Amino acid sequence: MNSCDTTALLAYDEALAQLTASASPIGKVVNVELREAFGAVLAETIESAIDVPGCAMSSMDGYAIRTADLADAGTTRLPVSQRIPAGSPAVALTAGSAARIFTGAPVPEGADAVIMQEQVEADGDRISFEARPTRGNNIRPAGNDIKSGTRILARGCRLRAQDIGLAASVGLQILPVYEPIRVGMFFTGDELVEPGDTLAAHKIYDSNRYTLHGLLSAMGCEIVDLGLVGDTLEETKAAMQNASTRADLVVTSGGVSVGEEDYVRIAIEQLGELRMWRIGIKPGKPLAYGQINGTAFMGLPGNPVSVFATFCLFVCPMIQILQGREWQKPISMPLSADFDWPKADSRREFLRARLVHNADGRSVVQVYPNQDSGVLTSTVWADGFVEIAENQTVSAGDVVDYLPFAQFFG
Ligand code: AMP
Ligand code: MG
Repeated sequence: MNSCDTTALLAYDEALAQLTASASPIGKVVNVELREAFGAVLAETIESAIDVPGCAMSSMDGYAIRTADLADAGTTRLPVSQRIPAGSPAVALTAGSAARIFTGAPVPEGADAVIMQEQVEADGDRISFEARPTRGNNIRPAGNDIKSGTRILARGCRLRAQDIGLAASVGLQILPVYEPIRVGMFFTGDELVEPGDTLAAHKIYDSNRYTLHGLLSAMGCEIVDLGLVGDTLEETKAAMQNASTRADLVVTSGGVSVGEEDYVRIAIEQLGELRMWRIGIKPGKPLAYGQINGTAFMGLPGNPVSVFATFCLFVCPMIQILQGREWQKPISMPLSADFDWPKADSRREFLRARLVHNADGRSVVQVYPNQDSGVLTSTVWADGFVEIAENQTVSAGDVVDYLPFAQFFG
């Protein structure tokens, strides 16, 4: 266990390294039918047992010919000896003849090119053409897409539409996937009321619950939602116990600072193990990480923007590892800044930003004018973060690191 230093800030990279090193996959496997597999994490690497396509196929409507039958010069004239629609078997092509053929139909044995119908003049059972196709023209060879024995999908990938389509193309009906991980969540703060309830002037609506619900849904998690929990140590501990027995990961918001009403951190210290809690990032400094009854725990700050940012930066990697995915640090895009950021901060900053075209039509990145961690509007305006290293400033025209939101929770 790392010592829980209550003064020094842990650097972002160090915090991320500690977090990702401590997490391991839950790993419960279940077989699902293809149409239930979207968004699930593949539990085994898949190899194809067949060639796709299984034989040479035409990629055009036209005529299959043997290039050896082409006239030495000028017009080639050939009788049509068979007709091959898609889905029908072909017989070997008689020398000195052509086969009428359609897209996706098998190329007859002996034929080595397909000439597209637009280049052919047909007169009853005879064709003539000037074109001089070369061997292999408009033919997709057997195994053009996939060769038998090839690995087509890697264990740990999150299945997208095209992955499932590819599995279907090799004839698979079911896929082994990991069961969704269960994420328990609750929200602290006596100032919170739920949308739909009456709002007194000294209260605010609970938004974190709904932001987290969306983020966890986007990541394919099963959600155990315990709702609002009052600002007392007893209630917080009871909720923590309850969540830890019902989930693979517990995520909370609020109550992790040093305030007298911040019971989440204290509850974890009493019930489990607190591994770190102050990270040198902005927004999001107080972030608790630990375990309770063997279940991973992440206590996010209360500020709505901090919740969104710390979820992207720390909860997403944690969830991906628990899900059995290969976690990879998001790849940033170097882009020209369309803003000045003159004030350096000792913490790494994640500014809410968006891509725009400037007057010359070039892609540049802008930042939302109000970067206060309570301004949730900034996350709606933005489509990503600009990551600014510790003690850095930015002038318009500098190259900055842009990170699209979708890279985190896709
Ligand atoms: P805390 O970390 O508990 O001190 O909360 C920090 C700030 O975030 C306070 O202004 C809280 O009112 C606000 N906050 C905490 N939880 C929520 C929530 N669920 N929805 C919206 N704002 C919240
Ligand atoms: Mg609070």
